[in-house]
Amino acid sequence: MATVQALVVPLFRQRRFELVHRLRLQHGLLRQLVFQQFLLQLELRRKQLFLTRRSCLTRPAESSFAPGCGRCQPEAVITGSPFRPCRRPRPVTAAIAVLAALSAVLAVCAAPASAAAGYDAERCGNTSGRVLLTLDDWSVEDPDRAVRAGSFLRGRGVRAAFFLVNHHAERHPHIAVTLRRQGHWVGNHSYSHPHLPALSEKAAREEIRSGLRSTLLRPPFGDYGPRETALAAELGYRICTWTLDTLDWEKTGGQFPGPEVLRARVRQAPAAAKRSGVVLGHLFTRFPDALPGIVDDLHDQGYGLCRNGGPTTASIPDPLDC
Ligand SMILES: [Zn+2]
Repeated sequence: MATVQALVVPLFRQRRFELVHRLRLQHGLLRQLVFQQFLLQLELRRKQLFLTRRSCLTRPAESSFAPGCGRCQPEAVITGSPFRPCRRPRPVTAAIAVLAALSAVLAVCAAPASAAAGYDAERCGNTSGRVLLTLDDWSVEDPDRAVRAGSFLRGRGVRAAFFLVNHHAERHPHIAVTLRRQGHWVGNHSYSHPHLPALSEKAAREEIRSGLRSTLLRPPFGDYGPRETALAAELGYRICTWTLDTLDWEKTGGQFPGPEVLRARVRQAPAAAKRSGVVLGHLFTRFPDALPGIVDDLHDQGYGLCRNGGPTTASIPDPLDC
């Protein structure tokens, strides 16, 4: 038994040694194989980059793009060093880029097209430091009240803006013509004075489109949102509201406030509402009667008013030529 054991054990040891040796050999071969594969890939990548560089350098017009990271280097970079492969955008970087692009698109969509850099819809592009008086709507019983107010203001060297409801104005075309001849601006106040946001997009667009042709749109009731701003821009308008509402339209005991009340409201309004500001009044209230007192008070307080520089056109400039 001892003899058998003496013969078999070394045999087993020999066999185990061979097995381990073979496994080590195979493992080494495997590692070698993997390493060779890695080298092969490196070589392929190097060739790919070389071809990319050659393509970029020989075809400058296409040098904005290439495989690998997907882009060639800009010409300036190529000039600085013969070739510097760009980095593959990391997922986080790519996500940030996508978010930034989305934000930019949203900003463009939501922002008033009228909000070209620095445009302030409440000031209607008035950056002059002077006050712009504005008269809205229409006087149904006395349409010529508009041109009489316009005549008074021109006599004081003042340029105002009239926002006429075209449903009325189109039946009295001489009003807008005369106002512009007097040196005032005449803007769009829609066709029939609805709340634009309450309308369908199609109807809102039609209300603006059928309004008195100009480049400033005063939304009825000052009621507008991003959609109206975008519609206005699409049709060539900037939104124009106001900084000082005289509340001349608000009746007390069935009566509009009188000229002295309106005059006091303007006089007592904060400077920020008047300096480069826009005052809102209406043609159907007592506001036209209050104009002489308002003009006097503003002058007395040291404010300038938009200066009347002669006839205007439908195109109202930004910034306002005050
Ligand atoms: Zn109105």
